[in-house]
Amino acid sequence: MSVLEKFRGCLLGLAIGDALGAPVEFEQLTGIRARFGRAGITDLVPWHSLPAGSYTDDTQMALATVRGMLAAHERGRTKGIVHGPSMVYRAYLDWLATQDDPTQRRAPGNTCLSALRSGKMGTLDAPLNYSKGCGGVMRTAPVGLAFRGTEAFRQGVEYAVITHGHPSGYLSAGFMAELIGHLVDGTSLDDGLDQSSETLRIYAGYEDTLEKITQARVLAGNRTDLETAIREIGEGWVGDEALGVAIFCALRFPDDYRAAVIAGANHDGDVDSTASMAGAILGTMLGAEAIPAEWIAKIENRQEIESLAARMHEIWG
Ligand SMILES: [Mg+2]
Repeated sequence: MSVLEKFRGCLLGLAIGDALGAPVEFEQLTGIRARFGRAGITDLVPWHSLPAGSYTDDTQMALATVRGMLAAHERGRTKGIVHGPSMVYRAYLDWLATQDDPTQRRAPGNTCLSALRSGKMGTLDAPLNYSKGCGGVMRTAPVGLAFRGTEAFRQGVEYAVITHGHPSGYLSAGFMAELIGHLVDGTSLDDGLDQSSETLRIYAGYEDTLEKITQARVLAGNRTDLETAIREIGEGWVGDEALGVAIFCALRFPDDYRAAVIAGANHDGDVDSTASMAGAILGTMLGAEAIPAEWIAKIENRQEIESLAARMHEIWG
């Protein structure tokens, strides 16, 4: 499979997973089943008067990460040395400005809003808060398309700590970035998890994140049923749990994008984020051709997502 298919798979995969979970983000599994039947939500449907395929803040911010990285690349090419995280921070501020438009407000996370409104950019040396919400990890999968290995991890950490100051908030993001890079290179999911875990252990405060990754791997391996396994890992409102749920879904359905995002979208927690992250992993692993064509046809801003993937591929593919 071509590298371009993996880039498309990552961006379309995360957006479509997000759009699948969006209509049920704040519902419990029992409520989801009451609305959609025993199998839960299994297709893109309209929500909040938005058409089917509309995504949430997760995808908006992941695309902002992409725009920030592209801007950093462009500036580096024309002006020499550039500080990547500062360019990504600017892209997040551009996203913040869109949140004044009610049609663009898609249940944004409070930590992201308040951190970006503070006028300061959080860094590892000067974090703005002690939040471990999943608002960091939900937006860093595309970092693995531009960087590899420990550098992908570090960039992911720096982009997440802009808004989230707890290690579980930013290390989960670094992990996601490095994992995606391994999958682009054709490394197996298990080996990618092993290698990203090695990097994770270098950082202070890694323990909770590693515990969730390990738990996801054990539960995926021992055939624990889907519902019980995800409940044990957690609801995913915090970064380490969201990462754990997404990894579990990918390991349980490594050949089936649709099944993995449906698993990520049907539980008691932050389902748009976990489905989005599972979608990024599977989309990168299997390529965009593994994503149902009728879903790709329906996703919001498809042309823009495709052109961002193509642009990233021109530079980093
Ligand atoms: Mg969301």
